[in-house]
Amino acid sequence: MMQKRLWLMGLGTALALQPAAAQTKKAPTPKPKTVVATKPAATGAKLVETVVRKPGALTIPYSKYVLPNGLTVIVTEDHSDPLVHVDVTYHVGSAREQIGKSGFAHFFEHMMFQGSDHVGDQQHFKLVTAAGGTLNGSTNQDRTNYYETVPSNQVETAMWLEADRMGFLLDAVSQKKFEIQRSTVKNERGQNYDNRPYGLASEYVAKTLYPYGHPYSWLTIGYLKDLDASNVNDLKNFFLRWYGPNNATLTVGGDVKTADVIKYAEKYFGPIKRGPPCKANTCPRPC
Ligand SMILES: [Zn+2]
Repeated sequence: MMQKRLWLMGLGTALALQPAAAQTKKAPTPKPKTVVATKPAATGAKLVETVVRKPGALTIPYSKYVLPNGLTVIVTEDHSDPLVHVDVTYHVGSAREQIGKSGFAHFFEHMMFQGSDHVGDQQHFKLVTAAGGTLNGSTNQDRTNYYETVPSNQVETAMWLEADRMGFLLDAVSQKKFEIQRSTVKNERGQNYDNRPYGLASEYVAKTLYPYGHPYSWLTIGYLKDLDASNVNDLKNFFLRWYGPNNATLTVGGDVKTADVIKYAEKYFGPIKRGPPCKANTCPRPC
């Protein structure tokens, strides 16, 4: 990623929104992300680990919680500057892709910046930068992350923005946005690989180093023919498969109180329904 163009769409998006309640529409073929609950899900965070500072040791103290929907929440307080960093890491990268569908994890990263139900197209950029923050996302073979650094009094906004695209993305994905971002990704491939001297070296090395079918044998950017063959439902299925809270870790570090962060996590992420279970990746052995 990084598309920095900001559309001046105004700051009309109401921040006092209802907590996320999970995706409502599903792609035609995939399994539903969750079973519809008959009563509100419990949202209380459970403390599972505490690391404290030790004299003479380089330690980052933190508290680790798990929400009932499986979301891991890590909070580390550092009051040296009035800033906070919010990161959501999804445990999916190009190594989770299937043969013939390469490039999806990275392509999907682009779509996460194109708005969700309560955040207009490009408004994620607008809201964070207007608050004095910076943001980006990145994808590698094993994970995709999204992050913002904002003034610490904006932590609730940053967490709400992340929760909205985790819980309310699918309805906002359109064919038009899909086509725009597919063109962007193909251009990114051209700029960084196909049209750059020695740009294809890493692709050749990966293809040669790993056996056929090994999830590290293709690059995160994917192959053009796979990107061309993809459709919007493939992307929706990818989201439904891998973007559940039980396959994600929310990390908040900076000038915050742990209790406040947990309160916002429970409020905004807590009602998002759990996705399918995610097993560890298996790789073919070299012959
Ligand atoms: Zn990109």
